[in-house]
Amino acid sequence: MVQEAQLIPSIANEIQQIHDTVYKTFKSGVCRPLEYRRVQLLQLARMLQENADAFAEAIHKDLGKPKQEVYGMEIGAIIERSLICADSLEEWSKPQEVKPAEWATSWSPKVLPSPKGPILIISPWNYPLVLSLQSLYAAMAAGCPAVVKPSEFAPAFSETLADFVPKYLDPKAYAVVCGAVPETTKLLELRWAHIFYTGNGRVGRIVAAAAARHLTPVSLELGGKSPVIVAEDYDVKLAAKRILFGKCSNAGQTCVAPDYVLVAKNKRDALVEALAETLQGFYPTGDLNSDSLSHIVSRSHFDRINGALGKTKGKIARGGKSDPQTLKFEITIVSDVDFEDELMKDEIFGPILPIIGVDTMDEAVDYINSRDHPLTLYAFTDDAGLKQKLKDETLSGSLIFNDSLNQLAINETPFGGVGESGYGNQVLKYGFDGFTHFRTTMDVPKEAEPHIWFRYAPYSEESMKI
Ligand code: NAD
Repeated sequence: MVQEAQLIPSIANEIQQIHDTVYKTFKSGVCRPLEYRRVQLLQLARMLQENADAFAEAIHKDLGKPKQEVYGMEIGAIIERSLICADSLEEWSKPQEVKPAEWATSWSPKVLPSPKGPILIISPWNYPLVLSLQSLYAAMAAGCPAVVKPSEFAPAFSETLADFVPKYLDPKAYAVVCGAVPETTKLLELRWAHIFYTGNGRVGRIVAAAAARHLTPVSLELGGKSPVIVAEDYDVKLAAKRILFGKCSNAGQTCVAPDYVLVAKNKRDALVEALAETLQGFYPTGDLNSDSLSHIVSRSHFDRINGALGKTKGKIARGGKSDPQTLKFEITIVSDVDFEDELMKDEIFGPILPIIGVDTMDEAVDYINSRDHPLTLYAFTDDAGLKQKLKDETLSGSLIFNDSLNQLAINETPFGGVGESGYGNQVLKYGFDGFTHFRTTMDVPKEAEPHIWFRYAPYSEESMKI
């Protein structure tokens, strides 16, 4: 039997001390002034700008992730968003005026955006930087201290983050705790003002249950199978290219990667051919030699993906090979898959794309609705009727027409799941709102007394009439 790792007592003490420090800092009020928040946000951007290479190297070491993907999808996004937060702080945090009924105007009711308190951020390995720091900038903007617990499956990134954070940010307010299950379990025993967890649903339940002991609010950014519909009307070559952008980024280890394709049956073979052709263009010297393709994060994930491929009854139309030494895995297209196939059970979270032919779009919608609500539903179509049907008859974290993954590039929309794909939102103002308590305030003048006399006992016929 494998022995569960125990938490070393000195590390338990260290975690307790970090917790005490961030609570003390919060109580002291230093994180509250906008100027402090602005400085920390600018420092976060500076940390990434000055050490972009070190972060990109570390993530490359963990995942073999091409630097272009790290710069574009992780570092660049967080620098830009930290700067937007710094510029938007004043607007987001100012008291919100409301328009009450005429008789209540003199009470001056308002909404005060108020920092909730210290935030715990638990992040996964697949986009280790963006998923650790997207919540960190939001906590800073909201005036909250925060502790980040990055994933043990991205150790080089985690160490790099733990090294730079105290050099750039206020160490009394922001800390990184490296470690795995024992460290996270200790963190979860403590009280937080909000916990932001990104990862799988099994651990999401552990986090939510631990938080419930303190009535701590939680955001859960989870995963699941994100389907792709390709309708008869759409150009299969363009669909293939755009689907593969989402599937090949980080070798399919993306929460919103296209998981499987439901294609109009009479277009299935053409789509499979277009996918194979596109991949030949992406990786002309072979996927396993390509510097433009990440490897699988660990041997256990590699074995899981290989195991699922070994059990499919579908036909491997392209790819299928992998290298256990380098953990590289070919982008693998499996056609003639049916709904009961092994590949249709769990989130693939890797470079395998099952293709299922459907007779009608109703069949595709019924199948999607028979499963958990996905994090994203993709559909390739220009048919306005089908678009409306998908809006009206399905539910998912997001609904994206005619592209994949690009919803992550938009600053103005929330990112979050629904049902089994999670709850709570992130990105800029949505992240700020998650860590903010919207506190009602009013100030009732003495002069209001003649207008509110009727509420006091003893009640009478006269007071009832008001
Ligand atoms: P992971 O294994 O890195 O785990 C995530 C975090 O949970 C880590 O920090 C880890 O230390 C912690 N953890 C693991 N076991 C724990 C336990 N028993 N108790 C407490 N903490 C524990 O990452 P993962 O879960 O493999 O991530 C992949 C999943 O995350 C996929 O399902 C993916 O779709 C999802 N995901 C979702 C989003 C999103 O924004 N919705 C983003 C990325 C990934």
